[in-house]
Amino acid sequence: MTEPGIKVVRSLRDLRQVGAEWRKNYETVALVPTMGALHDGHMALVDKATQAARRTVVSIFVNPTQFAPHEDLDRYPRNEAADIDRLREKRVDLVWAPAVSEMYPEGFSTYVAPGSAALGLETDFRPHFFQGVATVVLKLLNQVAPSLAFFGEKDYQQLCVVRQMVRDLDVPTEIIGVPTIREKDGLALSSRNAYLSRQEREIAPHLYRTISEVADRASSEDLGALEAEAARKIIALGFDKVDYVSVRDAETLGEFKPGRPGRVLAAAWLGSTRLIDNVPVLA
Ligand code: AMP
Repeated sequence: MTEPGIKVVRSLRDLRQVGAEWRKNYETVALVPTMGALHDGHMALVDKATQAARRTVVSIFVNPTQFAPHEDLDRYPRNEAADIDRLREKRVDLVWAPAVSEMYPEGFSTYVAPGSAALGLETDFRPHFFQGVATVVLKLLNQVAPSLAFFGEKDYQQLCVVRQMVRDLDVPTEIIGVPTIREKDGLALSSRNAYLSRQEREIAPHLYRTISEVADRASSEDLGALEAEAARKIIALGFDKVDYVSVRDAETLGEFKPGRPGRVLAAAWLGSTRLIDNVPVLA
């Protein structure tokens, strides 16, 4: 289907045809993978992409293989028409919005096994998550064949897993990380914020504030004690459960060593909504 200024493409055949045309003209292509329900965080990625490349593709695909059966696949917010309207205001050339059956045709059975960046943190709580993410990201990179792809630091471990996959599997795409866009009170923008009640929304920014304090103290204090204190504080401030608060090496996500760039990563629950966030520890 062609619309003025922006093409919405749903078949791999059509996508390949457009891509071949662009490559014939030596036009650089950037990809911004999303699951839709677009907000200003996604738009920051789109802006970077349109500035960096001649052509920008935004994919909208709620990827079932990264959701466990008990997770929120069915209630995940979807609003494709509004998403496309937002993208029309940008210099986006193509929206790649395949159906699940186009992405995973019958008989699909090959998955990426993510590397060491996927050990621990999210994987302790969502064991199959990064296998689903890495598989769909590799497919998207193969489908669109971009020279650049943009990912948010909001999903920091995901960014590390994707970088490692691209490096390890020789994917000819440069991965670019984009800093997290936040509400005025510090809450990281997320499609899942739509699940929060008014009361939960007021509590939510405490996650960011607490991990920012951890980041300030990480280079001079005992990490185990600091992480445990932060987890207790997040609960005291109104969260229902903390999955983890952890200070890691910013590049490998292995052990943090003062003097090297670090990252504080956290995941916590407000009612039935799971929020994740992270902040840098400056070297
Ligand atoms: P999602 O639709 O949640 O899969 O996110 C698509 C991309 O947008 C991912 O690379 C996310 O890391 C990125 N993203 C999501 N929220 C934000 C945010 N608040 N700031 C910057 N990037 C974000």
